[in-house]
Amino acid sequence: MERDVDVIVVGAGGCGLTAAIAAAEAGASVALLEKEERAGGNTWLSTGSVPAAGSRFQKEAGVQDSPEIMAADLLRKSGPHDAESTVELLARESASLVEWLVDDHQVDLRLITDYKHVGHSITRLHAPAARKGEFLVKDLVAAAERLGVEVVTGNPVAGLLIEDGAVVGVRVAGERSGEYELRAGAVVLAANGFGGNREMLRQWIPEIAEAQYFGAHGSTGEAIAWSEELGSQVGNMGAYQGYAAVAYLHGSIVSWTTVEMGACLLSPSGERMGDESVGYSAFAPVVSAVTEESWVVLDQRIRDYVLGNEEEFRDLVEMGGLAEAADEAAVARIIGADEATVAASLEEFAQAAQGNRPDPFGRTDFGFGPLGRPYYVVRSVPALFHTQGGVTVTDTAAVVHADGTTIPGLFAGGGVAAGVSGRDGADGYSSGNGLLTAIGLGRIAGLSAARTAGEE
Ligand SMILES: Cc1cc2nc3c(=O)[nH]c(=O)nc-3n(C[C@H](O)[C@H](O)[C@H](O)COP(=O)(O)OP(=O)(O)OC[C@H]3O[C@@H](n4cnc5c(N)ncnc54)[C@H](O)[C@@H]3O)c2cc1C
Repeated sequence: MERDVDVIVVGAGGCGLTAAIAAAEAGASVALLEKEERAGGNTWLSTGSVPAAGSRFQKEAGVQDSPEIMAADLLRKSGPHDAESTVELLARESASLVEWLVDDHQVDLRLITDYKHVGHSITRLHAPAARKGEFLVKDLVAAAERLGVEVVTGNPVAGLLIEDGAVVGVRVAGERSGEYELRAGAVVLAANGFGGNREMLRQWIPEIAEAQYFGAHGSTGEAIAWSEELGSQVGNMGAYQGYAAVAYLHGSIVSWTTVEMGACLLSPSGERMGDESVGYSAFAPVVSAVTEESWVVLDQRIRDYVLGNEEEFRDLVEMGGLAEAADEAAVARIIGADEATVAASLEEFAQAAQGNRPDPFGRTDFGFGPLGRPYYVVRSVPALFHTQGGVTVTDTAAVVHADGTTIPGLFAGGGVAAGVSGRDGADGYSSGNGLLTAIGLGRIAGLSAARTAGEE
């Protein structure tokens, strides 16, 4: 068969860039097509945290971990779901994945030792020094370029080319690119999920369909739709990552480390809404069921701690995102709530944090302990970050047909694939699940696609 390149990768976020690196490293010629004007997608917006078990960085820090513990952690949080074999696969691959990125491709990832984050019993998140996904993207783009792969931006893929049931290329159609067809030995779908597609959200995840979408605009679900047209299986379509507190107006996340260190969230009427320690994702539908906005209440100690560790929080502080409140009455004034209600909520929370009385919502973890004056208050809204459901893939990231066979020439990873965060809802999401499937399956998909192209 005539072909223009060995491998086409659709989408230049974490999954696509990693797939392109793996495929090029295996000797394939690669076309990496991105519909937006910049590479990065959701990966750029993320904190860039990738979980890995048994990595050399953990060993150097004296942290004992294993793929078995990691898989057990993720499954405990997610509950049973449609992609459990992907959990085991990615846990098994995770240490070599992070080491490969750092050692072979100069990607700056460091073990985060100051907190564990949601779903993990051991410190295993590896992130760029600044804990910003844009640095991960820049490092991945540089690594791809060193291997001769150029990110072709402004080139939206509009559909797949099919011959005799096999995927043989893509059709591109964009304002800047014009229309053309590109043929290849294999195609990797790395176009993320459907967080930016309200219609698909209403179909699959109505509970979060009307919340603010905080991910990249490019996640409009078309790659999942093309695969379904080809008869692919889909799984875990109701699962998603939410975030309970995006700073309102500033548009940056209010780091959940604030909650882990002892902050709470109050509704506009000054009441707590639930056990915040369930995690930033699981708490998102709790907030959105009650209100469109809420208020994170922390204190000086928490503020200074997170400020010292997290650049995005520092940016939020510098932009004036935190309002100082000398006492409970001042908190009430900022929120616009009844003073007695706010005082009662904070008193009840302090009693629980001191261990004097059980928390009415069952929270048992209070970080530094009771909040002290002065308080700091951040106005925030709950949001959808990304969807976690998609096409079923094998251990080689091949897309699975409803009849159990694989679709020849088609591979997928990241938000296009069925994720590892449970079947539905926001509470199965462990920190790093998004990038684990993006980068973990991306590497596998790139390598598999290169092999498939090489066999033909
Ligand atoms: C604020 C925020 C914070 C997060 N923090 C974390 C974190 O710390 N750790 C973690 O694991 N996860 C995190 N996530 C989730 C994580 O960002 C995503 O799960 C992950 O980036 C998905 O990677 P991806 O490569 O599948 O998609 P993306 O990074 O979104 O890349 C997909 C790319 O494909 C392009 N594309 C789409 N359709 C087409 C098309 N038709 N043709 C060509 N190109 C196309 C898009 O424009 C995009 O550039 C966070 C998400 C958000 C929004």
